[in-house]
Amino acid sequence: MNSKKSHKKSALKVNAGIEKPEAVNPLLQQKPDKFRKNRVSPSEYLKGIQTGNRTLLSRAITLVESTLPEDSKAAGELIRLCLPFSGKALRMGVTGVPGVGKSTFIERFGLFLIENGHKVAVLTIDPSSMRSRGSILGDKTRMEELGNNSRAFIRPSASAGTLGGVARKTREAMILCEAAGYDIVFVETVGVGQSETAVAQMVDFFLLLMLAGGGDELQGIKRGIMEMADLIVINKADGENINKANLAKREYENALHLFPPLPNGWQPSVLTASALYGENVPGIWDQIENFMQLTKQNGFFEKNRKDQAYQLFEETIHQSIHDHFFSHPLIKSRLKKYKAQILNQQLSPYEASQKLLDFYFHSFQK
Ligand code: GDP
Repeated sequence: MNSKKSHKKSALKVNAGIEKPEAVNPLLQQKPDKFRKNRVSPSEYLKGIQTGNRTLLSRAITLVESTLPEDSKAAGELIRLCLPFSGKALRMGVTGVPGVGKSTFIERFGLFLIENGHKVAVLTIDPSSMRSRGSILGDKTRMEELGNNSRAFIRPSASAGTLGGVARKTREAMILCEAAGYDIVFVETVGVGQSETAVAQMVDFFLLLMLAGGGDELQGIKRGIMEMADLIVINKADGENINKANLAKREYENALHLFPPLPNGWQPSVLTASALYGENVPGIWDQIENFMQLTKQNGFFEKNRKDQAYQLFEETIHQSIHDHFFSHPLIKSRLKKYKAQILNQQLSPYEASQKLLDFYFHSFQK
């Protein structure tokens, strides 16, 4: 078929090109130094965030998240300055599948906490935004009312890098928020993958939101995630859903009883709530307060923080060694060679890894 002819008759035709409008503010495409109007020193950042300047807190987090080598020294210095003022907040993980009501819950709960004299920061870890620009958590306008409150600070997920990298940045953002005086820090993540484990390793209390009648499989919730939860909340327990929610509550309670007891003496429970209508929000806070009281008394709150600190130490070393190994040009070229030999079955993976490690240790040992 003659395509030109068919185009004439068809509504489908290719229009002459028009100039594409700028999708991105051209200033942002320039070198970062040029659009950062004025450089702020780490001590000025600390002073600013401690006086409640949320813009400066946001910029400080951007600095910490930066992967530019010229930012790393200032970022490290800023963290060092903030550390003595950190650690006093309650760190709370919130997870659940998309649509379960995480942002509705955090907004409602956050406003309730603010009414009770707290300052609330919300950080997110969104694994979808690390793979692509798309983001499950960030696409919609989220928590507008909370975001407009002067006693709240909301920061979307860092989107560059691996889960491990983003988790590290989130811990650092948490330190900055604590130094800024936020005494409750939420770390929100989507309950669909590995990110819950990363969040569980940086918080004091882990809350899992569920829906009634979804079934575990449908909700993508694995047993492992339930095991991490200190509290399960069946959300959307309102209207016609109340009976189903109560039924689900009993099912999950039965499931929880099958898990081995936790070393910290806490017995995770199941509550029903409606984030939309604010039903049972205070009941959730009661549970968290009970948890804090118990674990602070029996020493497990402190122990958990110390374990997490040590874990972070090991992880950071692990990551640095990994990066050093895999990014070294001499290793990279040999990796290719060994890969071919493994695929051709000329060498076993054991032999190949031993040879490469021998080379590495020999070359880099002083
Ligand atoms: P997220 O993806 O987990 O952050 O979920 P959202 O907070 O965006 O909520 C998804 C949808 O569920 C929205 O339309 C909310 O209005 C609705 N929703 C959230 N919580 C409740 C609730 O407690 N009851 C009802 N009926 N709807 C809710």
